[in-house]
Amino acid sequence: MKIVVLTGAGISAESGIPTFRGSDGLWEGHRVEEVATPSAFQKNPELVHQFYNARRRHLLQKEIRPNAAHLALAEYEAEHDDEFLLITQNIDPLHLLAGSKNVLAMHGQLMEARCIETGKVIPWKQDLTIHTPDPDLPTRIGRLRPNVVWFGEMPLRMHEIQQAAQNADLFVAIGTSAVVYPAAGIVEETPATCQRVEINLEETPQSDAFTQTIRGPASIEVPKFLNRLQR
Ligand code: NAD
Repeated sequence: MKIVVLTGAGISAESGIPTFRGSDGLWEGHRVEEVATPSAFQKNPELVHQFYNARRRHLLQKEIRPNAAHLALAEYEAEHDDEFLLITQNIDPLHLLAGSKNVLAMHGQLMEARCIETGKVIPWKQDLTIHTPDPDLPTRIGRLRPNVVWFGEMPLRMHEIQQAAQNADLFVAIGTSAVVYPAAGIVEETPATCQRVEINLEETPQSDAFTQTIRGPASIEVPKFLNRLQR
């Protein structure tokens, strides 16, 4: 059985990372156009860096740890790695910290920086500024950006994602609001025979596209669901 899992900000909420779609429609007090678009970076790179620096510092705090949902997915992968693909929209490292090996981070990773000229990606835990030198070439200044996909940019490895969806026997969407495209469209790529399961605290605009909906916190419902699958 080929299983494709898509996770969103909701899976990390119980680890202390706020989700994106709060009741105020802002991401940590900002409109996304101000901080998470290529034009925002062109207009005001300092503000964009400050925004992601704050997010990165938060992720590095020791109380930010994988929860039972991340851990259950990592355990499941360890036993079924040939038939299991984990796709995440999250830019936090919690799936990796939980031990998941093959994580397709379609929106990139905040613990990485990318050179805007060469596309080179490097692990990155410090703050970034418009004065940050490239560690490989210290005379080159201010060319690094967070390795995350901004609104208006194409998510990574879409072809691979589409192919996996088209071949899936089971598709599970966990903690995603299903409003950020193209991630929200993955469920529609799955074949008619595919079992589609949504695990979320609340109903989403796409709940009707699923064959089963499970309402509840990811840390409880994901381990329960994967346990049932093993039996
Ligand atoms: P979203 O914030 O739009 O939606 C979160 C969803 O999770 C909601 O439907 C909510 O009902 C559900 N949810 C909240 N707590 C839950 C819980 N404990 N258990 C189960 N479900 C829960 O998230 P999205 O759909 O991933 O889109 C947000 C975008 O913002 C993504 O592209 C992502 O890159 C970015 N983002 C990432 C992080 C992160 O890396 N942790 C955090 C915030 C935003």
